[in-house]
Amino acid sequence: MSDDSQEMDCREVLAEVYFYLDSECAQARQEIIKQHLAECSPCLAQYGIEQDVRALVHRCCSKDAAPAEVKARLRAKLAEFDFEK
Ligand SMILES: [Zn+2]
Repeated sequence: MSDDSQEMDCREVLAEVYFYLDSECAQARQEIIKQHLAECSPCLAQYGIEQDVRALVHRCCSKDAAPAEVKARLRAKLAEFDFEK
């Protein structure tokens, strides 16, 4: 089935989100994340980070910096998934 490859893709995107926390306005990563959000938001909801990711990407385009609170929460959740390895 295509489920496996899609899940892999989701993990890659979540890893991008993780890096995105460190380089907040990297356009390339923002596009990857935004595109995936448009196509596959259920995966982020599944991980319980959809709202935080949306807030992060959205705020990048506005004048407001992403709140440290949101970034810290996302970072903590992403750390549980161990994407760095
Ligand atoms: Zn996905």
